[in-house]
Amino acid sequence: MEIELELPEYLRTWSEQVDALRKVGRIFWKRRWSLGTSSNYSVVVSRDPTQLLITASGKDKGQLARGDFVVVDQHGQPVQENQPKSSAETLLHCVAAENPEVGAVLHTHSVWSTVLSDRFAPQGGIRIEGYEMLKGLAGVTTHEQSTWLPIFENTQDIPSLAEKVRAAMQDPEQRLQHGYIIRRHGIYTWGRDLNEAFRQIEILEFLLECLARSAVLA
Ligand SMILES: [Zn+2]
Repeated sequence: MEIELELPEYLRTWSEQVDALRKVGRIFWKRRWSLGTSSNYSVVVSRDPTQLLITASGKDKGQLARGDFVVVDQHGQPVQENQPKSSAETLLHCVAAENPEVGAVLHTHSVWSTVLSDRFAPQGGIRIEGYEMLKGLAGVTTHEQSTWLPIFENTQDIPSLAEKVRAAMQDPEQRLQHGYIIRRHGIYTWGRDLNEAFRQIEILEFLLECLARSAVLA
């Protein structure tokens, strides 16, 4: 398939970020975390006002063209006309980016997050503890620390889901630190920059696969 490499005018300033997100798409597609048009990725390209560069709706993530991106404001609205439609889940990226320390948000539709979300839904989330790989997550320094990934019911009503996620992120009791899962759907995580968000999703996917495979062997 021929990939369109010309950068549209509205993305000229963000050429590097566009190519970095296209690379993320190719890698995630190869790892089967972003098959077809599933998933969406963003980077914060401006603060004050907050603006995000995010994947456009309905694009093959393994074959992202340079024009398959949109720049939106903190409410998920396009900052310029004549851009493609942004991902249906744009608001979830905006909610994560309300934290001024977040510079990139990644969302995948992986098999393990999908399968485990069903298994752990009655507990409201997944606690992962005791694995050395936890140390790959931001702020974790020993395998004795744990992380909690809350699970939200899937819905097509993204504004109401965004509200629930915001409430959970602001609730210190939840200690929602590294990400969350949407049931039978996929996982969201973030980082200070794209590299940190990338590492984070890589580690979380590894840990979820460990949990699932251990359950199979048990
Ligand atoms: Zn999704």
